[in-house]
Amino acid sequence: MVFGAGSLRHLPRELELFGARRALVLSTPGHSAAAEGLVRDLGGRAAGVFARALMHVPLEMAREARTQAARLHADCLVALGGGSTTGLAKAIALESGVPIIAVPTTYAGSEVTPIYGLTEGGVKRTGRDARVLPRVVIYDPELTLDLPLRLSITSGMNAIAHAAEGLYARDGNPLTELLAEEAIRCVAGALPSLHASPRDLAARTQALYGAWLCGTVLGTVGMALHHKLCHTLGGSFALPHAEVHAVVLPHAIEYNAAAAPQALSALARALRSEAPARALYALARTHGAPYSLRELGMRAADLDRAAELASADPYWNPRPIERSAVRTLLQHAWEGTPPG
Ligand code: NAD
Repeated sequence: MVFGAGSLRHLPRELELFGARRALVLSTPGHSAAAEGLVRDLGGRAAGVFARALMHVPLEMAREARTQAARLHADCLVALGGGSTTGLAKAIALESGVPIIAVPTTYAGSEVTPIYGLTEGGVKRTGRDARVLPRVVIYDPELTLDLPLRLSITSGMNAIAHAAEGLYARDGNPLTELLAEEAIRCVAGALPSLHASPRDLAARTQALYGAWLCGTVLGTVGMALHHKLCHTLGGSFALPHAEVHAVVLPHAIEYNAAAAPQALSALARALRSEAPARALYALARTHGAPYSLRELGMRAADLDRAAELASADPYWNPRPIERSAVRTLLQHAWEGTPPG
């Protein structure tokens, strides 16, 4: 872990420690200029750039990137970007075992998890594999200064969601609980400052540090209803990832509140509120994040199917998954009414 403003300058040293001579730099199309700049800076240590990462890692795109990595004899993958770029690097590493250096530019947290996802025929499949866990992460808050405000807030809510569900994880322990509470405190504390001043480096540093902790919780313990809902809504209804997290989280926490009192107490401490679900709703809404599935373009007619999908395969959740209660949760999230 390399953390701190300006720490991208340590990338050549990290490549050197690997003995890497042919790094393939990955990014989304929107980040291609930065990726190409990085290739230039790395000089002889870079083999090329693949700047076509897409959300949810479509299999065809992963195949193209795998082919390019093999053709260039890449011996290291540098993922410069958010969860989509890290996800692409993971898809390559899953097959080839090529090590990943992640340089995250959002708060998604994928860089510290062994979780990968691949989408084929509109269906996203996820799994865990030690080969996809990045070997090095370079956290440079300067790279997040231009993250658009709306994405900064929704990505921060995405991070908080990992830690919030970690608080009631079945396989949690006192250490992950401490980590999760501190993670939420950090990210939630940074968002108002970012909203007031998006280029505030201290707030960006705090948010990125919190995102590291949140991602660590995600990578360590199992998630529950909230992540299942977001997975369903993103995967089957093509809704944007971080925005969906921001909208659904308060409602998922409300659903589980009575069944997870210890987690709710920790959340209340972290958010400094006796009504954590409402506090999450206010945190997103007052800082410009979307707060209804309707405004994300979801059709009311799809709510029944979403409830069906999210209740279909049994999975652990502090409160049992009841289809009709999940349908009600989705109705509230669709309308954007405050929880409770
Ligand atoms: P993203 O990576 O798709 O990025 C969103 C957009 O923001 C892109 O257009 C990107 O180019 C742009 N962007 C990123 N950083 C920027 C910056 N600093 N400045 C300006 N623009 C920037 O979004 P995300 O929310 O980070 O990732 C979402 C994906 O990550 C989803 O597919 C999700 O499933 C996955 N994810 C996976 C894990 C895991 O552990 N495997 C964890 C979290 C998220």
